[in-house]
Amino acid sequence: MILRSSHRIFILFLVGIVLVGASAQVRQEIVIPDINGYITLKCDFHVHSVFSDGLVWPSVRIDEAWREGLDAIAITEHLEYQNDEVKGDHNRAWEIANERAKRYGMICIQGTEITKDMPPGHFNALFIDDANPAHSDTFMVAIEAVAKQNAFIMFNHPGWKGQQPDGVSRWYDIHTTLLEKGWLHGIEVVNEREYYPAVQTWCMEKNLTMLGNSDIHQPIHMFFKLGNGGHRPMTLVFAKEQTEAAIKEALFDRRTAVWHQDMLIGQEIFLRPIFEAMTSFDAIQDTIKEEKWASLSLRNTSDIPLKLEAAGEIPELKIPAKITVPARSIVLVRVKAKENVALGTHQVSLPYIVENFRISADQGLSIVLETELIFIEGE
Ligand SMILES: [Zn+2]
Ligand SMILES: [Zn+2]
Repeated sequence: MILRSSHRIFILFLVGIVLVGASAQVRQEIVIPDINGYITLKCDFHVHSVFSDGLVWPSVRIDEAWREGLDAIAITEHLEYQNDEVKGDHNRAWEIANERAKRYGMICIQGTEITKDMPPGHFNALFIDDANPAHSDTFMVAIEAVAKQNAFIMFNHPGWKGQQPDGVSRWYDIHTTLLEKGWLHGIEVVNEREYYPAVQTWCMEKNLTMLGNSDIHQPIHMFFKLGNGGHRPMTLVFAKEQTEAAIKEALFDRRTAVWHQDMLIGQEIFLRPIFEAMTSFDAIQDTIKEEKWASLSLRNTSDIPLKLEAAGEIPELKIPAKITVPARSIVLVRVKAKENVALGTHQVSLPYIVENFRISADQGLSIVLETELIFIEGE
């Protein structure tokens, strides 16, 4: 059969739609609630490309971050290493990435990594206009060059084994000098796969911003397990609006938390409202027909799992020692009443610690589940 040309065009048109559909980019949105009147932005302030010692072209960093549901990333090439194939202007990687970011409406922050031996170690400068003046063998000259540009300056991976073989984060005199000059604003509590609890304490004592970043060099999926709960470490920024200026204001005001693996790390003033916004619980009339049991449903609407540990005993009830509520899930928790408890509805307060919400180096978030429990008659 000979197809009329109009039919052929129609068939080609359909094939075209199928092919375009199959190659569409998909963004996996991250669900973490907005809190305290701010928008919760998901950010990574430390990534590399082939313009220093990374393995991908700068625009790929934007594609990856967009697909993973991030709102902003910073391009932070090492000033001290450049790939011989792309030597020259230290701003070029950001320019390429930023062009790509505009297409998605993503925020791409211009940054750089000042890369010195320990001490002082490695430092990222964010929100700069020009990285080139910071290329100096003298650390203080480099830092002053970015400070003059009103950069947000952060101390990277203090416990990295490449510089501290025992993995211990150390604070040196040079860091005190930076702090006194107003040239140090934040520290990485998390870098790549590492969490430095001591650094969380430093941030709290010295009023510094907590950051958690990927420091990714490889294609992202070759280093981090993505999907099914896997994600790169990221800094949650509680911003007044979704703009670069608002991120900068929030970073200087220390309004951040860090999401690393199953852990949320940060100040209680942010972690408690996140817990409250992502959690709900209800007494339910379960089908259990055993004497003196009651059920409670615990719902987690976010992408962060909840790991609860009982904090103390309740004389009249037997409560589970541990409860895990996976991301975007509901679990039914069963509570047993002891002999002296009457059947019917009881108002109870169940004390737990959210052990994966780290409000300090050695402390999870204490909560009390205030709820009704309905103890029913057994059959
Ligand atoms: Zn580094
Ligand atoms: Zn780095």
